[in-house]
Amino acid sequence: MSQLWAERHIAEHESAVPLRTMDITTTRATETTHFDVLIVGAGISGIGAAYHLRTRLPHKSFAILEAREAIGGTWDLFRYPGIRSDSDLHTFGYAFKPWTSDNAIAGADEILDYLRETVQENDLAGHIRFGHKLLGADWSSLDARWTVRVQAAGSDKPTELTCGVLFSAAGYYDYAGGFTPHFEGRDDFGGTIVHPQDWPEDLDYAGKRVVVIGSGATAVTLVPALAAKAAHVTMLQRSPSYVMSLPAKDPIANGLRRLLPEQAAYAITRRINITRQRLVYDLSKRYPRVVRRLIRALTKRQLPAGYPVDTHFKPRYNPWDERLCAVPNGDLFKAIRDGDASVVTDRIARFTERGILLESGAELEADIIVTATGLNLLAFGGMDLSVDGEPAPFNETVAYKSMMLSGIPNFAFAVGYTNSSWTLKVDLVCAHLCRMLAHMDANGHDAMVAVADEGSGELRPLMDFKAGYVQRAMDRLPKQGSQGPWTLEMSYAADRARLLAGPVEDSALRFSVARGDQRIAA
Ligand SMILES: Cc1cc2nc3c(=O)[nH]c(=O)nc-3n(C[C@H](O)[C@H](O)[C@H](O)COP(=O)(O)OP(=O)(O)OC[C@H]3O[C@@H](n4cnc5c(N)ncnc54)[C@H](O)[C@@H]3O)c2cc1C
Repeated sequence: MSQLWAERHIAEHESAVPLRTMDITTTRATETTHFDVLIVGAGISGIGAAYHLRTRLPHKSFAILEAREAIGGTWDLFRYPGIRSDSDLHTFGYAFKPWTSDNAIAGADEILDYLRETVQENDLAGHIRFGHKLLGADWSSLDARWTVRVQAAGSDKPTELTCGVLFSAAGYYDYAGGFTPHFEGRDDFGGTIVHPQDWPEDLDYAGKRVVVIGSGATAVTLVPALAAKAAHVTMLQRSPSYVMSLPAKDPIANGLRRLLPEQAAYAITRRINITRQRLVYDLSKRYPRVVRRLIRALTKRQLPAGYPVDTHFKPRYNPWDERLCAVPNGDLFKAIRDGDASVVTDRIARFTERGILLESGAELEADIIVTATGLNLLAFGGMDLSVDGEPAPFNETVAYKSMMLSGIPNFAFAVGYTNSSWTLKVDLVCAHLCRMLAHMDANGHDAMVAVADEGSGELRPLMDFKAGYVQRAMDRLPKQGSQGPWTLEMSYAADRARLLAGPVEDSALRFSVARGDQRIAA
């Protein structure tokens, strides 16, 4: 290890943020301006990354920059009735912290409690700078460090921090607002229009006629939740999605918890669920027709006799070409059976004063229209990066081990699975990043960069996923290669082999030392 490097890092560690438990919704961490690692985002991924750093590399100084005033990201932002996970929390939760609630599918409140406990138990609160939005960062190869521009809430101009490594755990969508397509006649509607990402706290829907536009995870969550109080809820969809009923409580998980110590029960449940998720995914890809038929049979059983299952619940795509929607204990189907909710599959001609005119000529009357029409994808929290003064647009990069970007040194990111719990992958990425940093320490390196050459093979879109929000943003995203460390794996087993068991070093990853006048060979 180089003497200079060691001296600098020991000095930084000593000046780093003191660890103490604080009110985690209002903390402003201290005035330290250089960190070994800066994490962007205090959602489930950023908190997980901080845990890994604290436990695996306790000598590293780090901070989490969080644009909002609270932890939790997704689980704090969305406030619509019924907001819940569609993954089981035994795989969505952290490997290191057992999920101990009886509910396998959990509401945002329970997930936020779990995250708050994680922060408190691991003394992470003092590392979080709330109200700090990262705008962009410039890498200097001379100094082997990032200078990041941060907009603090209440301040009129950005300030600067520096760090050795920048880790984006900023999620995948724009916090500024959700996606709403143009609807002809929108201003003519006499009632209230809301987007789930911006749910008014005081919206009174009791006894009202509600139309929810959409057929994704948000729509199928909202419909039964609203139906409990509304006069009637109509889910208006252009085309159907796969909707699967899942038990809200997992009898195996809860049984194991009674028999075994918490950590052991959790580990076994996690393994069972990971295997089950993978099995369903693999069967869907290999035998799509069989799985289609199976889902149809299960759906039909939960709907009233004579219900037009194929009109409303037979998608045009194969299972797992897009994410499957889960409904706990079949709550959506129950609301339909009880007559509190219905599904209409049609296209919108225009909004009218009283509701929505459909292309079929029918009109849906409504007091409230909910546009559950999706998210706006935003890669890496909207930050701009430059390397040695040159802009580094993300769409000109290739993802390396789906956690770094070609040509961008000391930058890593958390992007999870779309066919399984997001966090399963993020956990492996954080572990691998710590291994990379330990490797750099052991060898006296200051910088690492992935270099994409012919070894990356044929380039293709990063995400092979047909969801609308992915398709709309494809041209702004990095690419993936077709071989070696340049592929984006969507399999936990493959990622474990690559990120936990696989070597840190490979021919595409170049390490170097900052020597003032010597630039990284990239
Ligand atoms: C309603 C809903 C339900 C979902 N349910 C599931 C599920 O059941 N299972 C599943 O696997 N996935 C689910 N997802 C996907 C889900 O978002 C992720 O699984 C997970 O919560 C993402 O966590 P994250 O920490 O990576 O990102 P986020 O939760 O999005 O958190 C990102 C954080 O980064 C902050 N941030 C962003 N940009 C900046 C910036 N420039 N500077 C500073 N801070 C910044 C944000 O303020 C936020 O706090 C769901 C998504 C939604 C919208």
